[in-house]
Amino acid sequence: MSNLNRTMMQFFEWYLPNDGLWWKRCSAKADNLAELGITDVWLPPAYKGTSQDDVGYGVYDTYDLGEFDQKGTVRTKYGTRKEYLDAIKSFHKNDIKVFADIVLNHRMGADECEEVMAHKVSPADRNQIVSEPQLIRVWSKFTFPGRGKKYSDFIWDHTCFTGTDWDENTKEKGQLYCFEGKSWSQQTDIENGNFDYLMGCDVDMDNPEVLEEIHRWLLWYIDTTGIDGVRLDAVKHIKSGFYKDMLSRIRSDKKIELPAVGEYWSGETGRLTGYLDAVDNCMSLFDVSLHYRFFDASKSGASYDLRRIFDGTLLSVRPDQAITFVDNHDTQYGQSLQSYIEDGFKQLAYALILLRSEGTPCIFYSDYYGNPPKDRPMVPNLGKLIKIRSRYAYGDQIDYFDDPGVLGWVRRGEADFPDSGLAVVLSNNANGKKRMEVGKAFAGELFYDAMGECTEPVTIGDDGWCDFYCNGNSVSVWVRAGAFEYLSVNE
Ligand code: CA
Repeated sequence: MSNLNRTMMQFFEWYLPNDGLWWKRCSAKADNLAELGITDVWLPPAYKGTSQDDVGYGVYDTYDLGEFDQKGTVRTKYGTRKEYLDAIKSFHKNDIKVFADIVLNHRMGADECEEVMAHKVSPADRNQIVSEPQLIRVWSKFTFPGRGKKYSDFIWDHTCFTGTDWDENTKEKGQLYCFEGKSWSQQTDIENGNFDYLMGCDVDMDNPEVLEEIHRWLLWYIDTTGIDGVRLDAVKHIKSGFYKDMLSRIRSDKKIELPAVGEYWSGETGRLTGYLDAVDNCMSLFDVSLHYRFFDASKSGASYDLRRIFDGTLLSVRPDQAITFVDNHDTQYGQSLQSYIEDGFKQLAYALILLRSEGTPCIFYSDYYGNPPKDRPMVPNLGKLIKIRSRYAYGDQIDYFDDPGVLGWVRRGEADFPDSGLAVVLSNNANGKKRMEVGKAFAGELFYDAMGECTEPVTIGDDGWCDFYCNGNSVSVWVRAGAFEYLSVNE
């Protein structure tokens, strides 16, 4: 039996309302998502941040999943601990795997200040020390008074961190401090000289007590929640040896596969593969280089040469480790890495990640559901593309990448998946036509455009070849009669 195509959905976006209803919404949507063909969901960070409104990346207490009165709230933005655990159960009931968002680079919102000797470093080149050691007051002691010692009695203090960006004495903005006796890890990205530091109190991954506490927490988290996989935040700011060792320890302790996907934010494929090599390929990575190809293509319109769109991406060099995506909560409008794909190209981009054999696609919540408060539309027919991936996008793939403005490919189908096999034609320019070979097995069959762009079916010739069409700036997905009927009935 061939493997079902996996499709992940990032089930959140940046601007969700702070109403505490999100985990309930997850529970309510789980069966819809399964029916659609979603096999994996990535949920937002579930632990207490610096405030109730925190999206989850301003981590305060990783043991507080919406259980303790801390930071002025019991629940998180998304709900309570019980609701989170119920949401995971709902996904499991529908055979959907849950990926937890794991944010370990930094901590924020400390309970107490400490006096620490530190030297200033240049924010633009963190290897450059720009002051003598001086006594500063930093928010670096985490005692978690609201939780007490439940689950863990570990107290975080300045010895657990490498540096921070705030001196409570001077309150000077734009500073960066490295604590005396500490140094940035060299196994991090080289942007700004050294990119160990991102924000808050930077966790010192060379401190053995910190490593033991994180190890304990990860075991607790997996036991408590039953998550299946992990999405690892900000890995370019964390020494590569950390996840290499930690994932291997956890996998061997728990005897679980624990699939992992890292967020290494760089459009340079060499940085991505360099990191994968450094961590012994213990995880997949989001294909940021492909995201930027989509971004360029969406800005360039008809002048973009689609034949080159995959060249040099992570998908092209490490397809089995590429989690492909179009947009996410950071690239969306108004966010830190804003680089969202223009509406006119989004459907093409999704066809390019959903209907091909390489890579594992991750759908962005707002692209599927739309975002009316922010005036963002749903990507047209995205649900249909996901269904087509799940049910019909199987078998050998043959590319017809011979025209800069019109791409075509066929999937030859697999016996295990009834009515599978298809032909795709997409254009960023004028109307397109492609003569492609789906194979003699389909001779005489009618193929229909599931996207509804072309209304007349085409007939596969006795030699297995056929002319397939698409309109300008659009995607047509030609499927077999049985598939077309299913998709028409199951809108
Ligand atoms: Ca760091």
